[in-house]
Amino acid sequence: MAGFNDVPMVQSLAVPAVCLLIAFLGYGSQLVFRYSKTLQPGPLSDSETLLFNTLLVLLWITYYRAVSTDPGRYIFTDRVIDADGRWCNKCNAPKPPRAHHCRVCRRCVPKMDHHCPWTKNCVSMTTFPHFLRFLVYANISLWTLGYLLWQRLYSIWEARNLPAYLGPSLPALIAWAMLSGTCFLTSLALGIILSTTVRSWLFNCTMIEGWEIDRHEAIAERGGRDWWDVTDADGKSIRFEKVEFPYDIGFFANMAQAMGTSNILLWLFPFAGNPALGKDGKGSGWVWEENGFNRAEGMWPPPDPDKLRHAGRPWPAAARDYDAELRDLDLSPEDAKRAFQQRQEQDLRRKRVLMAELEEVDEVDDYGEASAAGGARSLWVNSDGERLRDYGVDDDDDDEIAADDEDVPLGELLRRRKVLGKDGQE
Ligand SMILES: [Zn+2]
Ligand SMILES: [Zn+2]
Repeated sequence: MAGFNDVPMVQSLAVPAVCLLIAFLGYGSQLVFRYSKTLQPGPLSDSETLLFNTLLVLLWITYYRAVSTDPGRYIFTDRVIDADGRWCNKCNAPKPPRAHHCRVCRRCVPKMDHHCPWTKNCVSMTTFPHFLRFLVYANISLWTLGYLLWQRLYSIWEARNLPAYLGPSLPALIAWAMLSGTCFLTSLALGIILSTTVRSWLFNCTMIEGWEIDRHEAIAERGGRDWWDVTDADGKSIRFEKVEFPYDIGFFANMAQAMGTSNILLWLFPFAGNPALGKDGKGSGWVWEENGFNRAEGMWPPPDPDKLRHAGRPWPAAARDYDAELRDLDLSPEDAKRAFQQRQEQDLRRKRVLMAELEEVDEVDDYGEASAAGGARSLWVNSDGERLRDYGVDDDDDDEIAADDEDVPLGELLRRRKVLGKDGQE
């Protein structure tokens, strides 16, 4: 599916194409069975007709909901929301955990899995249950059709020794072959998508997070250790450590969380709802339960040393001293200038030490040819050659502004101080 979102026409034609495919396989097949008198055993029985058309109705309902359900939109009321979190430069707003900025939906999407061109929608916290139900009914419908086509192949095979004019007619054979070929290829593709989706359901791990896990493991492996130390300018050592994926909280809890209910009977019910995005920075979509394997919460996603090298800021010391920056604003212009220069010098010293340490790491680096060459940045790709961009993420790594990404801008700090001041007066 990689890169499909960028193909022109796909965005506007994919949904009609899926509808045509459902109509061709679902109703075209029934017409062929009914009217080609030579394709044994003839039209579907009443119970087969009922079963198959019920499946098709479920398929239409779940597809409609997967396409039309809103992938979620964060609304920020004028309150201070977790100053240490990530920041989205495009939305100009904080970026809650597990959210990513989708470049097709043009906003930060809660628990974004990937942007699916076939539903023209993000698979996200809110759309996931509908997407999963659609895949389940699509696969069951395809297997049912496969069985019906197989029955007819069997009768064709039985008739192989009869004179040709007694067997199935040529148009019937062509129609059968076209339906079978399409059914086979579609069920192969949808079977693969269903299995990856069920996997991400059981492990509570989105496609994007799977990519992040692969990248983190590749980085951890190149050191051959679970961690390595970098000394910063103040002589403190900073630990790059192996971070456990924190959102896998046990398979039943994972499944219930994704479906928005622990009532198993509702999981495959086509009219069942989906998890709703919380409000005011609280509830699902804003905070996520963690499994406690890491020494602290909120450590996911782990940092990308290549990005740090580019930014020249160590991690976890990358967290800026917001208080100091705000204090500076109250100083006289000369004092503010001096304080700024002081911090700048400190940053530069820290950067030099960090660069030296990272160069050392590069010596044991068998991770990518381009990683340190002339400061050129290599973008990490997984074993399928995919980058985050391929899941629809607006990946700042592609821009030159990478270094400043996820920094909270000064204007936002001022706004927060204002809000805090207001609260203090009340
Ligand atoms: Zn955004
Ligand atoms: Zn999207």
